[in-house]
Amino acid sequence: MILRPDTYAHWRNSIIESTLNDGREEAPAEKLLHSIWQHQRLTRERMETVDGLPFTVLHPGFHNHSAGPDFLNTVVQWSNGSVITGDVEIDPCPADWRNHNHEHNPFYKDVILHVVWNTDRPFSHSIPTACLRPFLDAPLFELSFWLERHPVTPPSSVCGLCAPSFRILHPDTRRELLAQAALVRLESKARRIEARARQTGWTHALYEVMFRALGYKHNSWPMQRIAELIPTLQSTPLPGATETFHIHSRLLGISGLLPPELPRIESASDYYVRRIWDYWWKERHIFSETILPRSVWRLQGLRPANHPHRRLALASNWLSDSEWIGKLEKWFTNTQPKARNLPESLLEILQAPEDPFWRNHYSLFSRASQKPQPLLGRARTTDIAVNAVIPWFWIRAIRGDNRKLKAHAEELYFSWPQAEDNSLLRLARLRLLNNMPRRKLAGAAIQQGLLQILQDFCSRSNSICQGCRFHEGLQALAHRYPQTPDNQNDCKNRDTTRGYYRTHI
Ligand code: SF4
Repeated sequence: MILRPDTYAHWRNSIIESTLNDGREEAPAEKLLHSIWQHQRLTRERMETVDGLPFTVLHPGFHNHSAGPDFLNTVVQWSNGSVITGDVEIDPCPADWRNHNHEHNPFYKDVILHVVWNTDRPFSHSIPTACLRPFLDAPLFELSFWLERHPVTPPSSVCGLCAPSFRILHPDTRRELLAQAALVRLESKARRIEARARQTGWTHALYEVMFRALGYKHNSWPMQRIAELIPTLQSTPLPGATETFHIHSRLLGISGLLPPELPRIESASDYYVRRIWDYWWKERHIFSETILPRSVWRLQGLRPANHPHRRLALASNWLSDSEWIGKLEKWFTNTQPKARNLPESLLEILQAPEDPFWRNHYSLFSRASQKPQPLLGRARTTDIAVNAVIPWFWIRAIRGDNRKLKAHAEELYFSWPQAEDNSLLRLARLRLLNNMPRRKLAGAAIQQGLLQILQDFCSRSNSICQGCRFHEGLQALAHRYPQTPDNQNDCKNRDTTRGYYRTHI
């Protein structure tokens, strides 16, 4: 039997077209709407809001994979020539703005445009709203085929002006430049620690920066505040025997994250909270003026393992160990930068002994999980190392005029393996390195260098690099030290960087 030559194509088109609801009432999947926006598969010259206000998208913004609007730092030009930068939220219909409670959510306060699929029902909206459906540059099923091949790769137009120069720059020069930026970052973190140490002492300054790192991006400020209150907590002596648990009850008490009343005991969690309360209610009056409002914590969108209840359980172990700083110092002086297990060796010092409750609870109120979960993992250990521990030792070495220990801290810094990806690092790779795969960046320090450029330059400009001149110097550098066919894939040579910091710092 001979098939018609277009049989398969015909099936494919008709089946996918029907599943996409092209021409029907329902909106396509939000993922597809995001791709359409990101790649601007729209008739861009005739875009207008539902109120008839023409606009041009100068930059679609950066896809946000965390909580908040779908695209950040979008640049839009209105028909009167004014240019605004802000966020874009994409939803199937205008009512989703209220249904999803965006109007009362502070994350959405910078939204400049609500992009929806369709506006077939009457609605009132305080934010300019644009409808995608009438402005697609091709039928929906055709776009779907095309976007299947470009699902996650952002278009090159969202890269910054630096991306072409970084791409053609000799890998060794690129690494050297990023290593220099990484050292600037190390120094600025260390100076901040030093400034706090002048007020509170070195040990306390370390606690503050480590607590901040435990809070990660969502809860760094309340965690820092708790660290600032450690002297107050320590001013009332502990009875001794059950010290770690008692400290944990104080940390939880001042965090404001305990339930306001004693729970009835119905589960293992209730029993644990009850024990915490047994300590806390006797002391609450002593610390009542320091208790944080619950509203300072951000618990939505947190990974379960990052819940502050768990973080405070870990911190109470650090505080109850009088030899903890000594152990850290021993780790620092004895650890070889070339060791293959740097994060694991630090984790051994920072990890808490296994706790029967926390080994399988993500918070005070969560159900027991099947999978045991340590209080600290390798990824957060790397964050603590590059943001707290190494800068602390580095600046102490400088203050102690010990060049050997300073060089040792830098070697540890440049030898530390990569940190986990996060939204800022993804943005930096996209903006500066043309979305270079994470695996091609050698080490946590180089990631820090990228973040420093993002902070120093990209964050002062906008998505279309307005007013930023960093790319000019980079272009000249790329012209002088271009990539050759022989070194195109050579991004792992670390000798240049090492040579750099050994001879110049
Ligand atoms: S804002 Fe500046 S540093 Fe960032 S990509 Fe654009 S030109 Fe480069």
